Amino acid sequence: MITNNKRTRALFNEAKQYIPFGVNSNFRYWGDDHTPIFHRGEGAHLWDADDNRYVDYRLGFGPIILGHAYPAVTRRVTEAIQSGVLFAATTPVEIELAKRFTRMTGMDKVRLSNTGTEANMHALRIARAYTGREKFIKFEGNYHGNFDYVMFSGPTSNAELLGPRSRPHRVRATQGLPLGVRNYLISLPYNDVELLEKAFAEHGEELAAVMVEPIMGNVAGIMADRTWLQAMRRLCDQYGVVLLFDEVKTGFRIARGGAQEYFGVKADLAAYAKAMGNGFPVSAVAGRDAIMAVVEPGRVAHGGTYCGNMVAASAAAATLEILEEQPVIETIFARGRTLMEGIGSLLRSRSLPHVLCGVPSMFSLLLGSDEPPVDYRSYARFDAELFGKLGSALIAEGVLVDDDPREPWFISYSHDEHVVEETLEKFEDALRVAFPGRRLARAA
Ligand code: PMP
Repeated sequence: MITNNKRTRALFNEAKQYIPFGVNSNFRYWGDDHTPIFHRGEGAHLWDADDNRYVDYRLGFGPIILGHAYPAVTRRVTEAIQSGVLFAATTPVEIELAKRFTRMTGMDKVRLSNTGTEANMHALRIARAYTGREKFIKFEGNYHGNFDYVMFSGPTSNAELLGPRSRPHRVRATQGLPLGVRNYLISLPYNDVELLEKAFAEHGEELAAVMVEPIMGNVAGIMADRTWLQAMRRLCDQYGVVLLFDEVKTGFRIARGGAQEYFGVKADLAAYAKAMGNGFPVSAVAGRDAIMAVVEPGRVAHGGTYCGNMVAASAAAATLEILEEQPVIETIFARGRTLMEGIGSLLRSRSLPHVLCGVPSMFSLLLGSDEPPVDYRSYARFDAELFGKLGSALIAEGVLVDDDPREPWFISYSHDEHVVEETLEKFEDALRVAFPGRRLARAA
């Protein structure tokens, strides 16, 4: 049980004096009394400023696929940076990486950038340039980053403001957004074939892209229905629309070839980031030859001072080499499955209504209902406060999950069977603390 947080709280108070809310990304703020400060990570673990150790299931919001400070990646980056980090020119490691990346994803061409936001932003521009159209479809609860075109009806929007399903409102996710930007967007509920067909019938000829997170990586890992993705593929072909998968969270995490391999649905263009660099800032837009061909000097802008820098490219080269050659994803799935089954059985034994959504490398626990959610609106039926109670108890036991049930639990290659076992023991303790009145249900 973690009780000492003196240094963390003192540091946080200092942070607040210089950094708004003491964090460099709004999602990291958990209130003045609970926002954590970590100073070290290794394998499956993190240490906070008071040197308390946690099993980390946040993994930097998903990128840490191998484990913190993974030696083979650290070694490759350390060696690379001895020879300089930025040349504003192509390097051999970028070529090595591009070869492996295209082989693993099945995409023809790839361009690197630094964040998921950038990759999606470039992807949308490429789709618009390729089609000569401006509008696009995005789904409620999907998050594609911090650029204006996509910041509507996202995972932080109030579901009660979304309006009728057949004519959803486009709810602004932030102030400071020119309202006119929303005229380019058609917002739809997730997993609804009928509404998708209707939107294509109405707007198909004006659409540049359909942009989709194939698993809702920012709303509890809600899974796309394969038949819905297949319908999307068919409609995009019929109307000449670019099918754009946001694989920022799914890429290299749910299969080597990402969601496209997992669901057996090929996208035309996709954005990747997170797991491809094991925590180093690297992202990519990749796609079919004919579409990526619009990226041409003087025609379609793609660029950035740091795109493909030595730190990012060597980290990604090392990470993808391990992902391709070792049974990383298989191992993570096996461990994640054990964890999900263990959690499920502990909750059943206490008759706590719950749903475990997502895939074993990226799953979420929702409390308060037994009915699986299919879209952002149905996510609202779950009890985030109830999860918050359990989350706080888990964190106090040294199991670091996000206090928000929308953010999935992530597993890395370093989460071995001992870590999983330890987590399940602590989960049981946390249940006792969070829900003291709940007795064990009798075996059926
Ligand atoms: N797309 C998805 C699916 C994401 O989960 C995120 C970040 N959580 C982004 C895009 C944006 O990536 P970044 O934060 O690296 O800009």
